[in-house]
Amino acid sequence: MTHQMQVVVIGGGQSGLAAGYHLRRLGLDFVILDAQTTPGGAWQHVWDSLRLFSPAAYSSLPGRLMPLQAAETYPDAQHVVEFLADYEKRYELPVRPVRVHGVHRDGGLLCVETDSGRWRARAVISATGTGWRPFLPAIPGRGDFGGRQLHTVDYRSPQDFAGRRVIMVGGGNSGAQIAADLARDTELTWVTRRLPRYLADDIDGRALFDAATARRRALDAGRTDTGGVASLGDIVAVPPVREARDRGLLKASPMFTRLVRGGVERADGTRAEADAIIWCTGFRPALSHLVPLQLRGRRGHIATTGTRAVDEPRLHLLGYGDWTGPASATLIGVGRPARDAARKIAELVR
Ligand code: FAD
Repeated sequence: MTHQMQVVVIGGGQSGLAAGYHLRRLGLDFVILDAQTTPGGAWQHVWDSLRLFSPAAYSSLPGRLMPLQAAETYPDAQHVVEFLADYEKRYELPVRPVRVHGVHRDGGLLCVETDSGRWRARAVISATGTGWRPFLPAIPGRGDFGGRQLHTVDYRSPQDFAGRRVIMVGGGNSGAQIAADLARDTELTWVTRRLPRYLADDIDGRALFDAATARRRALDAGRTDTGGVASLGDIVAVPPVREARDRGLLKASPMFTRLVRGGVERADGTRAEADAIIWCTGFRPALSHLVPLQLRGRRGHIATTGTRAVDEPRLHLLGYGDWTGPASATLIGVGRPARDAARKIAELVR
């Protein structure tokens, strides 16, 4: 079956919903296709104890403040899932449970092929996130390790590792939060490429958003790029992280050089034994559905101006990271690029 729409949004997480909000305001005819059957995007699949690194007031979407979660300063993931489900309902956003396999050109239109028919559209917004493409660094001996290896996406709770020797790799927010989660009940070795860089204790994700806003203003005004948030540090010291760090439970070791059957081997030849290795080593954008458009440059990246693909002006990429708008891969940060994408599309299709 073939459907016809002005705009197809691929992905119904926070980015796709924010896009839908603005498309609706502009009176465009659109559908949101999401591979999952329940609302909440990637927030449905994170570990049990995850807390946002900023308060509810800094985690809102266009048109709707995130409500406070009881007395908690930093909401949990279930709260975000409920917020997104409510947002979808409140703005009557047309989300269909459909997986997209590919997007290709079809005369003057873009054709979106799915497991449930095809949609032809004047424009497409791709908002498929990164949570579906976990990244594992190449390392010698990966296949030699006899224990369990998992990525952040597969980690749920410290109970699964009680009393075990765990090596946790990664010095970002996820790495620090999961290390804090594991520190009490496991024999933990936390491994990072460089010394962990905590933001000052009295600042949280709000400072990251302020830095992102300053960057966006500088870019909008044609001033020098302020460089975003990297200079502030990598880890927000949310209360569980701060507590574990202050109790001396979060000592980081340098990265090892290879995996061996019983654990890992360091550059000096010494070894550490492990029952499990958890890789908190990040994600890559989930863009395989765009392969038929052949937009990747030499470095494997799709070139964008704002959210719009340079070589395919009917396509916008939303929510993947700073390259699709400063702080666009966050709840509060995606609103502005979503609005800009919807406006550009309205100019194109009218
Ligand atoms: P997703 O939530 O991944 O949604 C994408 C949707 O696209 C999914 O529902 C998926 O089913 C669908 N999809 C994918 N491929 C297809 C396909 N081929 N066809 C159809 N549908 C498809 N941000 C904050 O603002 N504050 C925080 O404190 C914070 N903490 C974070 C902690 C962690 C551990 C992580 C990983 C991220 C955190 N973020 C935080 C970042 C960010 O808010 C999330 O990554 C967010 O989920 C991104 O939303 P999204 O809509 O772009 O992508």
